[in-house]
Amino acid sequence: MCNQGREKVLNQAKNILKNVFGFDEFRESQQAIINNILERQNTLAIMPTGGGKSLCYQIPGVVFDGLTIVISPLISLMQDQVRQLNELAIPACVLNSSLSDTDYQANLDGIKQQQIKLLFLAPETALQSNILDLLTNCDVACIAIDEAHCISEWGHDFRPEYRQLNRLIECFPNAVCIALTATATPRVREDIKRQLNITDTSEYISSFDRPNLFIGVIPKDNPYQQCKKFVEQYPKQSGIIYCQSRKGVDELTTKLQQDGLSALPYHAGLSSIKRSDYQERFIRDDVHIIVATIAFGMGINKPDVRYVLHYDLPKNIEGYYQQIGRAGRDGLDADCLLLFGYGDTGKIRFFIDQMSNEQEKRLANMHLNQMLALAEAEDCRRTPLLEYFGEQSLKENCNNCDNCTGESKEKSDLTVPAQKFLSCVHRTEQRFGASHIIDVLRGSSAEKVLQNQHNLLSTYNIGNEYSKKQWMTLARQLIQKGLLNQDEQFGSLKLTQKAGDVLKGKVPFFALLQQPVVTSSHTSKAMTKPGDQQLVAILKADRKRLADEANLPPYAIFSDRTLNEMAYYFPHSQDNLLRIHGVGQAKLEKYGEHYLALINDFCQKNDIQEVSNAQSATSKATTSKSNNSSINSNSRSVEIISAYETGQSVSSMAEQFKVKNGTIINHLYRYAQDGHKFAQPSQLLEQSGLSQAHIDSALAAFAEHSYERLKPVYDSLSEQVSYDQLHLLRIYFVSQLTE
Ligand code: ADP
Ligand code: ZN
Repeated sequence: MCNQGREKVLNQAKNILKNVFGFDEFRESQQAIINNILERQNTLAIMPTGGGKSLCYQIPGVVFDGLTIVISPLISLMQDQVRQLNELAIPACVLNSSLSDTDYQANLDGIKQQQIKLLFLAPETALQSNILDLLTNCDVACIAIDEAHCISEWGHDFRPEYRQLNRLIECFPNAVCIALTATATPRVREDIKRQLNITDTSEYISSFDRPNLFIGVIPKDNPYQQCKKFVEQYPKQSGIIYCQSRKGVDELTTKLQQDGLSALPYHAGLSSIKRSDYQERFIRDDVHIIVATIAFGMGINKPDVRYVLHYDLPKNIEGYYQQIGRAGRDGLDADCLLLFGYGDTGKIRFFIDQMSNEQEKRLANMHLNQMLALAEAEDCRRTPLLEYFGEQSLKENCNNCDNCTGESKEKSDLTVPAQKFLSCVHRTEQRFGASHIIDVLRGSSAEKVLQNQHNLLSTYNIGNEYSKKQWMTLARQLIQKGLLNQDEQFGSLKLTQKAGDVLKGKVPFFALLQQPVVTSSHTSKAMTKPGDQQLVAILKADRKRLADEANLPPYAIFSDRTLNEMAYYFPHSQDNLLRIHGVGQAKLEKYGEHYLALINDFCQKNDIQEVSNAQSATSKATTSKSNNSSINSNSRSVEIISAYETGQSVSSMAEQFKVKNGTIINHLYRYAQDGHKFAQPSQLLEQSGLSQAHIDSALAAFAEHSYERLKPVYDSLSEQVSYDQLHLLRIYFVSQLTE
């Protein structure tokens, strides 16, 4: 293609993104992938779930004159995409046996008359001779193979029909081929490239990090209450709770329902009619919570799942990642919480021990240990997660996991209580479990204590400063940190070498004592515009009504992000409505007037003006300092701010407060975000240790890109300024924004 032609096609892609899909920018690597396909190079795209794979073939599908065939293994996903594309006025259809004769015939006619742009087929359908005959009479421009890892025998989900796709591809030597998947080991990738004739330069691998997912782990302690408290933070929002067993699913669902929560179960023990009914109700927002085994999730791509709660420990990171990946596909904040109990580890180990194949056993143990490394991590949880996918985490502090943000998790010096506990284990001859040790420490007159004459020990009744529950937490941490071993059969505790060092006072013991509370305080509002909640509720209720009328899932009409932005900018004209994320030409024509009327009405009643929506990130940021910016009155925060104002450096404060540098940075950042001013802001610049020239270019980069995400800024500075330095400069930058 000549340069001019190339440019024209690229512009076309960008226009479609804006005018049809209503999105302002391509996401990381989407643009490169689309360019490559438009240049008719076979392409392999590896992107995490929610990364935006569909757009990579949907846009070329619209640009190309001929037909684009999309191969996908799941009927429900194909139908969902067709519904969404039709909502965008893109002619797309599916051919499969579940269609009525009339619908099937209508779709066939559409294809023959070249009215259809995207045709979705299951691999076995595509290979049927009647379908092949039909297709060879069409001008096929592009073949997209979704879930392409199914092509490889090395993959975890090999499907023989996928292997046969070569026959389809050979029929269309002029069609460009794109393979997409969210999971592929190097071996599988090589296999896909070889089979589909894809060169190394046409392979695009995106990061597996999903920055909008908050990752948290808390000790499983009173799981039902913890779970209930967690889901109650998200009323009327969609969430998934994963349990290990069907029985667990049924019990938890019943309890939640009894407590008035909108929940339904999902597992392989339910009839398929029930399963698809419950799934559909979830997709349509008729029910908000799905309690499920791992059987749930493959066939849905609901973009607005706001949380995933793991009630039990997953067996491996692969599964855990896949499950949390179902949250926040729309790019908005989503909350992922794991309840982590040692009992669960025991159960999994028990199952592993039952395995007869030694190789499988070793593998299962390794997978469990990787999962434990994440659950027990004291530093950023993204590090073990990304390591699993062979990626290195870019930053020390991700700002979006409990360990990176959590002030609820600041550790204290617990050397003395640890010594009390350990020495009590020693004096009771390492024959008892935690509960008995605690009874002794707290001076209980339980029969078991008296019978063993443990009331005569020097450690009897020396531990009343803590509740039983607090001691339990401490015991768990002593086990977790390898000071105690627990006998798997009897639960008795044994001292290790490490315990000796703490007992002798050679090493201190730092840990968490307070049960970390589940709060929503971490929810970074990085990507969420705080729309007027009253209007959001009105728009949502209305969307639900429209969706039910049209027999569509609500997200196919507008995404949550779209409604939120409407309730933030209050657009009054079609032009301004078009500036809202997710509003393209087709949706404008279909729903524009209706939504403008709703917004207008609300604004009149509440005397609200339209907010200007110039696309510049900084102006959005400044106006977003709205009514609900909370003054951080947290006392720790106040201490940190005053320490800062006396001229202390971040690292010396970190030492003083016994927290990580990142925690201090977070306090300062939040303070600035809440609109407060520092007495000596330039201190931040000095502490970065950067030259004036670097400072200037970094601040300019914040103004040009958004300050909300550091990566674009980091990249634009050719990686010359480190993330740590950028964190400091960002605080300065935000503190200088004027109201
Ligand atoms: P995947 O197939 O990789 O799991 P999807 O293609 O379903 O992901 O995309 C996930 C969500 O992200 C969808 O709701 C989609 O509309 C949205 N999305 C994709 N690309 C963009 C973009 N460039 N800008 C905004 N939203 C996008
Ligand atoms: Zn982190």
